[in-house]
Amino acid sequence: MLCASVVQKTAMRFLLATSNPHKLDEIKAVITDPQLEIVTLKDIGLEIDEPVEDQPTFEGNALLKAQYYANAAGLSCFADDSGLEVDALDGAPGVYSARYSGMTGGRDVVDPANNQKLLNELGDRPTEQRTARFVCAMALCFPPGSPTPGSDQRPSQTGSDPVSIKHEPIVVRGTIEGRILGPGDDGYAIDNPKGIGENGFGYDPLFFVPELGKTTAQLTPDHKNSISHRGKASRLIWDQLKNLI
Ligand code: IMP
Repeated sequence: MLCASVVQKTAMRFLLATSNPHKLDEIKAVITDPQLEIVTLKDIGLEIDEPVEDQPTFEGNALLKAQYYANAAGLSCFADDSGLEVDALDGAPGVYSARYSGMTGGRDVVDPANNQKLLNELGDRPTEQRTARFVCAMALCFPPGSPTPGSDQRPSQTGSDPVSIKHEPIVVRGTIEGRILGPGDDGYAIDNPKGIGENGFGYDPLFFVPELGKTTAQLTPDHKNSISHRGKASRLIWDQLKNLI
């Protein structure tokens, strides 16, 4: 007897290598395609030491993390490295954004300490000398020997081996320009690391976007995603991945 065969398209699994719940939400909000199942380190129960982020660039660190976890989990893996660049501080805190103050502990302790250090370093510099940007580099790496994403569903038309091409990591960068709150802003005080706004994390309450007249901590999550460095990087990487699957 002949049975009609039902071919069910299964979602492809991608690991998102971050333990920061804010980043996770921001990236998951952009990469929503049902063809993709995004799992976290916790979801797959992968408990290994974090890699040392010792690269001098955001791209280098994003790649290092994505490759490390792709190898360890045997899954295609997204990772990002992000931070704040302040022009008057020659690009600091840059790749050291997360550990700028040297304080360790939870986000509730580390974020205010970093913010306070930033305010101290900038002192009473006027508005025009407080320009800054958030940068997010995002990398996607495939584990060694993995099939091309989607290759089981779309065989190569050319007869060439697509695996060797698709194993190349993808790295993109998104940025958002703004400035750090200063003496010209309502609600600013040099000893107020909490800045303005309740949303977001890290430097958000000090990062003012002039076109919006708000800090990124005053934006709803959707609004922040639509303009943020991480939202832009997520969309860029998704655009490239779409061509592979
Ligand atoms: P990462 O986890 O090594 O990428 O560290 C990034 C650090 O940069 C965070 O801990 C924050 O201090 C800062 N940062 C990155 N993205 C944002 C953002 O969207 N808002 C506020 N701070 C951010």
